[in-house]
Amino acid sequence: MRSPLVYCGPMWGGKTEGLISRLVRARIQKVRVAAFTPAINTRDGEACIRSHSGASFPAVPVQSGEELLEHADQADVVGIDEAFMISGIVEAVRELNDRRKKIVMATLDMDSEGKVWEPVGHLLGMAEEIVKCPAVCSVCKHDAYYTFRLPDAPSERLLVGAGDFYEPRCYPCWEEGQREKRIARGQQHLFRTGPELPG
Ligand SMILES: [Zn+2]
Repeated sequence: MRSPLVYCGPMWGGKTEGLISRLVRARIQKVRVAAFTPAINTRDGEACIRSHSGASFPAVPVQSGEELLEHADQADVVGIDEAFMISGIVEAVRELNDRRKKIVMATLDMDSEGKVWEPVGHLLGMAEEIVKCPAVCSVCKHDAYYTFRLPDAPSERLLVGAGDFYEPRCYPCWEEGQREKRIARGQQHLFRTGPELPG
């Protein structure tokens, strides 16, 4: 397995499914596996990673990259779900690399405004393999690489466990939805705000 391996994309793209299948495969190969999930993302203290299709894998909830490292020593393969939510994750992955661990992660890549989550750019840069996992556009049914926030959703950048407030969209349908929201807010005079580009 190339390492780090990153499954990324919008919500409902099957990122966690990809992660779990790799971890299950490692377990069948009798490799020692440790899996982690952001503590903020666990409902009812549930200690597992769970995909939308119902697959699950036992995981340790962690608050930070440091805490993850404390629990990773006994493993040869380290799985990390929703990596972008764990503070210090970039440094932790670098340290896991130094310790010659195989690392496989799943992470959202962009927020619902089309901005890349800050740690993810680093994680993708360090990755030896990246798998983009498109969902299905809720409007036109083409591949969806964006997560659209519905107009009546709260405005915090990160809404944990709030899938009802989002839907996957392809870029044209996502942009159209963003435009409609601006018009509804009386901001039709503003230029569109697409994904931020460098420079
Ligand atoms: Zn579409």
